[in-house]
Amino acid sequence: MDARRIRRGLSAAGAAALDLLFPPACELCGGPSRGHLCEACRARILPREARLCCRVCGKLLIEADRAAGATDPLCAGCRKHPPAFTLARSAAAFHGPAGTLVRAVKYGGRTWIADVLAALAAQCFRDSFDGAAVDLAVPVPLHPARELARGFNQSALLAAGVARRLGVPMRTDLLRRVRETQTQTRMDRAGRRENMRGAFEAAPGAGARLAGKTVLVVDDVMTTGSTLDACAAALREAGAARVLALSAARD
Ligand SMILES: [Zn+2]
Ligand SMILES: [Zn+2]
Repeated sequence: MDARRIRRGLSAAGAAALDLLFPPACELCGGPSRGHLCEACRARILPREARLCCRVCGKLLIEADRAAGATDPLCAGCRKHPPAFTLARSAAAFHGPAGTLVRAVKYGGRTWIADVLAALAAQCFRDSFDGAAVDLAVPVPLHPARELARGFNQSALLAAGVARRLGVPMRTDLLRRVRETQTQTRMDRAGRRENMRGAFEAAPGAGARLAGKTVLVVDDVMTTGSTLDACAAALREAGAARVLALSAARD
């Protein structure tokens, strides 16, 4: 029996009674926990080091970037091809507990864990976006065939939790993936940009909803930023004034 699944359908009193019978376990270590994560596992999800990151895409800067941008922390990629988003940040490093949680949602179908990641991502937004206000949140869409096969879009689950915490609407009907893209695991940054070009477009009529708006585009994992860049480009082309990008984990 999956106590957590049952617990979600219960009243507070019912949930408390269930907790006595089946104490909640940490999603990561299985140890006792008052929430989805125990204190020890929560502490292991380290925030990314802020000082050494590209001011635009949030990528950790390497020595060469730091030398080139002595006064302006900007990575080589953003210097060469300024992305369509104004700012991108990630809540945690993919390697470690956050990656385990992302995989549990995406491949393990444990969709309720998306809300654990959403809490981390919303906190990252409050901490790292200089008090920016957004009008709406938009998840990175899956290709409809992929979403049908998986049964859900993990980024939409994440974006819903982020939007709820920020008090803004989440819209899944404004942006769509029109081309299935090849897996990008083995591609470099230039290859990924090429692969993503034209993969997304604003839905017909989305322009009226997007005009002049600041949009927060949300993904589970950010690697080079090419996916979020392509989404941001499509949203801006349709009239969004500004696009900010947020992911739960960064590879
Ligand atoms: Zn734990
Ligand atoms: Zn950058």
